[in-house]
Amino acid sequence: MSDQEIVLQTEGLTKIYRSLFTPVGVKAVDDLNLAVRSGETYSIVGPNGSGKTTTLKILLGLIFPTSGSASIFGKSIADLSVRERIGFLPEDAYLYDCFNGEELLDFYAGLFGFSGRRRKELVEELLSLVGMQANRRVPFRECSKGMRQRLALAQALVNDPDLLILDEPTSGLDPAGRHQMTRLILEMKRRGKTILLCSHFLAEVEEVCDRVGIMYLGRLVGEGTLTELAGEPTEIVITTRGLDAGAAAQLARHPMVLNVEGDVVRLGEADENQLWTVLESIREAGGQVFEVARPRPTLQDVFVRAIGEESK
Ligand code: ADP
Ligand code: MG
Repeated sequence: MSDQEIVLQTEGLTKIYRSLFTPVGVKAVDDLNLAVRSGETYSIVGPNGSGKTTTLKILLGLIFPTSGSASIFGKSIADLSVRERIGFLPEDAYLYDCFNGEELLDFYAGLFGFSGRRRKELVEELLSLVGMQANRRVPFRECSKGMRQRLALAQALVNDPDLLILDEPTSGLDPAGRHQMTRLILEMKRRGKTILLCSHFLAEVEEVCDRVGIMYLGRLVGEGTLTELAGEPTEIVITTRGLDAGAAAQLARHPMVLNVEGDVVRLGEADENQLWTVLESIREAGGQVFEVARPRPTLQDVFVRAIGEESK
């Protein structure tokens, strides 16, 4: 991984929140080392309170780290010029209720210095991108959560950012809303944007991200591609038909077989020959083989495993 490829990096990033009520402080982020490469979609996943939003806020310069450092596009996050290349979707995007989608985007296009025809075109492009052309004049107070979220994303895209930072982009959305948001994230990815998102919604993350960092109590407790995190399949699941109880009990004594539950026979790791002997035994016992699968652990399994090990 060469340095040029890295768009965002943190080193020993730590944030302790102190207040009158918590003089000792709450360690929200604890010695975090992240590196996100150009064009990559990286997702921080972790339960509520694990420090995800705090990390994003530090990166955006909204709060200061207690110690450690972070850089974006090779510059310190204290360098204001960095922010021109970032688009941010906050967790609970606040949109002025008196505006509608068209006015909002027009307003932000103006803020970013667009004028005349280019400004109109940009507003059109963004409305069309997020599927809000027909609903452009619906006031925010009448917009669904999904519509608001898509407009908030459109707003984050006004400056055509190279890096998108999305905090819980799908939380609170219904299935259709989640699907639309996922589709938009994939579209941004296709356009070559680097995306850092955080979520406690594992299914969507699985669909969009290249790498995942699992965060728990402010620390990174696991990191990698989904395949790396999940590891290789560790068992073989054979679905059978027509095994009677006696045959099933006999099969359960086979040295390769882990257990037999109803129609499902589970094996530990087995090579092709070993698998073949088990399939033969099933047939000899009068059973039919319906399906042979080697399931990989899901991200949910990995998540639970990583957090379980951390809290031991
Ligand atoms: P996440 O986004 O993963 O849910 P947060 O970064 O919001 O986590 O919070 C991490 C920890 O820091 C939590 O224990 C939270 O209560 C605490 N925290 C967050 N913001 C503040 C704040 N402004 N002042 C004090 N504690 C905070
Ligand atoms: Mg959060």
